[in-house]
Amino acid sequence: MASTSQPAPSGATKDVSLYQFFAPGGVLARTHPAYEFRRGQLQMAQAVEQALQEKRHLIVEAGTGTGKTLAYLLPVIRSGKRVIISTGTKNLQEQLFYKDIPFLEQALFPHREGKLNVCYMKGRNNYLCRKKLYDLTDQPVLSGLEEIEHYRAIAAWEKTTQTGDRAELAELPEASALWHKLDARSDTCLGQKCSSWEKCFITEMHRRAMESDIVIVNHHLFFADLAIKQSSDGAPDAGILPDVGTVIFDEAHELEDVAGNYFGVSVSNARVEELCRDVEASLQRNRMYTAALSGALKSLRERSQFFFALLAAGEGRFAFENRREFLEENGDEFMGLQQALQRLGAELANIPSKPEEIFNFVRRAQELQVQLGFLMESEDHNTVFWVERRRGGRDRLNVFLQATPIDVAPILKKCLFDSLECAVLTSATLAVGGGFEYIRGRLGLEHARESVLPSHFDYSSQAILYVPPDLPDPRTPQFAAKAADLIRRLLEITRGRAFVLFTSYAQMNDVHQRLLGELEFPMLLQGDAPKSALLEEFRLTPNAVLFATSSFWQGVDVQGEQLSCVIIDRLPFAVPSDPVVAARVKCIDAEGGNAFFQYQVPAAVITLKQGFGRLIRSLRDRGLLVLLDNRILKKAYGRVFVESLPNYLRTTEIRQVEEFFGL
Ligand code: SF4
Repeated sequence: MASTSQPAPSGATKDVSLYQFFAPGGVLARTHPAYEFRRGQLQMAQAVEQALQEKRHLIVEAGTGTGKTLAYLLPVIRSGKRVIISTGTKNLQEQLFYKDIPFLEQALFPHREGKLNVCYMKGRNNYLCRKKLYDLTDQPVLSGLEEIEHYRAIAAWEKTTQTGDRAELAELPEASALWHKLDARSDTCLGQKCSSWEKCFITEMHRRAMESDIVIVNHHLFFADLAIKQSSDGAPDAGILPDVGTVIFDEAHELEDVAGNYFGVSVSNARVEELCRDVEASLQRNRMYTAALSGALKSLRERSQFFFALLAAGEGRFAFENRREFLEENGDEFMGLQQALQRLGAELANIPSKPEEIFNFVRRAQELQVQLGFLMESEDHNTVFWVERRRGGRDRLNVFLQATPIDVAPILKKCLFDSLECAVLTSATLAVGGGFEYIRGRLGLEHARESVLPSHFDYSSQAILYVPPDLPDPRTPQFAAKAADLIRRLLEITRGRAFVLFTSYAQMNDVHQRLLGELEFPMLLQGDAPKSALLEEFRLTPNAVLFATSSFWQGVDVQGEQLSCVIIDRLPFAVPSDPVVAARVKCIDAEGGNAFFQYQVPAAVITLKQGFGRLIRSLRDRGLLVLLDNRILKKAYGRVFVESLPNYLRTTEIRQVEEFFGL
């Protein structure tokens, strides 16, 4: 948590109209070093102000370069209301807290006559749990020199930090195993019964949030909090975010996926193992280890291993439609795991005069039992049940049994939009074919004003979109060889300086292999280094070409000539066999809709807009966009994509691409 500590804004901000603030010669022009008049920014600010005043919801698409953060921050400050701003990325949270809000404070209150109460909150696992650290200090159980070193650094820092936010500890590696044992995540927290409650960083964060006018969070924290409040039936101390009437969702195109995760249920072998480890460490520390408890833990570990080994084989995500048949065949293993959880809970509950944390373990064992029961036996029609196997630390294969809402719309309508007086949803990519029908339907936002703002960029002169008309269909085996030839030719025109983005790892690796040794430019490949390191290398390496998949389609910002070309291999339809996608498709079709046009095409349109959005990041940027999938020209649905993209110069002639680059 971070916070600026000031009283609420005065009415001084009302003395200046939005026009006087944003217009040429206005406050922004006088105070911002890179000022440009942006019509879309003023329009957005007016729309947000109106929504706040009229207590209505608003959806607004504001392309890159609109300056949308100032366009919502100023009306928020002028409203004097307490507001939560939820964003998709850490970069944007930091920009708001460290750059935009201090700038506005300075611009609006140059003589420090007013100030803003602002608080920046991250997920709980970013903060230190003092109780865990103190417990460890009494009886350090550390494995290896590295953990000892990390422990010393954390213990020294705990004495001075005001926030407990690990971001302050730059020397602590991202993947520190010790941090995971010491973080303040909720399932290990004792809440008000904790002996360190009063000086806990989370308690302090909660306090700050309650006093703040603007609370900045990310979507994960927002929906985790909403789900906790929802499941606790409005208990007054549930959750850590203050109750507000207004929420601004920036990068709102991510809401459906994030909300789906937090309103779902997930139980894994890793979660069972984590409970066993936590119980073990606590029993050892408190000298309460008995033969009965050791037996209960051993049995739980064995039962968990038996049960999870029976679930779908292989890595990836798989539908789990045959739960009933599975239970008929493997009911004993399921019951065995349930009984082992119950036994551990009972043994723990039987410990006389036990410390508070033991009660917490009993609760966790019961919660696992209830959730496992739901995952295996629920008949809920709005839930898809599925299994995921993925690699965890030390190359362990973790198995997750998951339940995800098929349609989050009714949930969000009820517990979010119907209870807020004003929600503002904004992003550079929300509209499909110029309208918001898709996003409103997916999120259950029935009544909202809508606005698609004019772009600040002159796309028709800044970018050319090339679609090769004669490449084979990207779903055919002939595609990769032909695509690699064309990519080589295009990169010679742009002198590298490109992102080549793929919809699958297989296609990325195939094309990358074909071009190895064929290109005269440095080639970078996703997976060879962490994302941030690869991006840094791309920025610093002249004429570099980066081969990457979905994680580079969004939230990546490379300004200037270094990125002059973005090539995308195919229309980014979600994998139809993915269990969540398949369940959504089936549900829409079963209700008489057309899932392809109502769900798959619009979702792919938004992803494509995100991917192409990497190229033009400023008024001075210029470059080439390539879609190697000519279904956009040949299929009827291609029109929806074409109509949804900005008005790039468009061509099917490579000659025109050369001319664009002055060749
Ligand atoms: S209240 Fe929870 S997070 Fe805070 S110190 Fe205690 S156990 Fe840790």
